[in-house]
Amino acid sequence: MYYGIDLGGTKTAFAVFNEKGNELSRAVQATPSQNYEALLSLIVTWVTAADLEWQTQGRVGIGFPGAVDKEGHLLALNVPAVHGKPLIADLTWRLARPVYADNDANCFLLSEYQGGAVDQCHWCLGLTLGTGVGGALLHQGQVIAGKNGGAGEFGHGAIHPMVLARYPDLPLLACGCGLQGCLETYTSGTGLERLYQHLGTQSLPAPAIIAAWQAGDVAATTSMNWYLEVLAAGIANLITQLDPEVVVLGGGVSEQAWLYAQLNTRLPHYLMRHQVPALVVAPLFGGTGGVRGAALLAKHRTRAFS
Ligand SMILES: [Zn+2]
Repeated sequence: MYYGIDLGGTKTAFAVFNEKGNELSRAVQATPSQNYEALLSLIVTWVTAADLEWQTQGRVGIGFPGAVDKEGHLLALNVPAVHGKPLIADLTWRLARPVYADNDANCFLLSEYQGGAVDQCHWCLGLTLGTGVGGALLHQGQVIAGKNGGAGEFGHGAIHPMVLARYPDLPLLACGCGLQGCLETYTSGTGLERLYQHLGTQSLPAPAIIAAWQAGDVAATTSMNWYLEVLAAGIANLITQLDPEVVVLGGGVSEQAWLYAQLNTRLPHYLMRHQVPALVVAPLFGGTGGVRGAALLAKHRTRAFS
């Protein structure tokens, strides 16, 4: 039995998976985002209850928005409760079993690789479009981590200069990471909201901007056009530089069919002449991918779901 935990800035999900990777049960709670002890005891409570229910000692994998440093501390600015904390060591001690943790985009891509949209693909990329923008690279089933675990941080790659030249009114947005013009500042949910507000309109949540765009609203149309163009150029840049077989998108917006039609139209403008673009596909597991991927992480170190 495998337990997946998807630790997010606002919500934390816990799910139980069998050997075949099928989900057996799931619980979701608000993340005790400022309280490390409360978060530890929430996880311990879930795991202990699942052990009892399934008469087993399940292995535990955790996906979270960030990286693990060399000393085993989590670097996760969006989840203050665990930022700088030795979560893996503390849970390993309290649960008396191995605990694994990795970046949530890596977990997402691992999940899609095992029976999902990029099943057994040799060389694929994942790009998650949520509150932030995450990315991951998987080569022959292995996550490419990089020296500091930061490989695949596509959200902090720069906006394509061709887009800035084409849309002179497009603002150069400051990112929380200290840089300017990061893809995340345009193509996350909050990015779309910033683009919409830049037009002098009232602030609207991203889903409402998308609905207004579909209803023909002028400001929403301009901001969605910017959003899609920045995203298409960003993905084209990744395809040019990394030459993957497939790019799979994650996050809430990735479940919208119109996204792929829009990207397919726009993407070729940012590719080299005669370049054959990689497929950009929707995820199979959608919103459940993160927690499934986290469970898979616990198994991935030895073997895949079979
Ligand atoms: Zn950034």
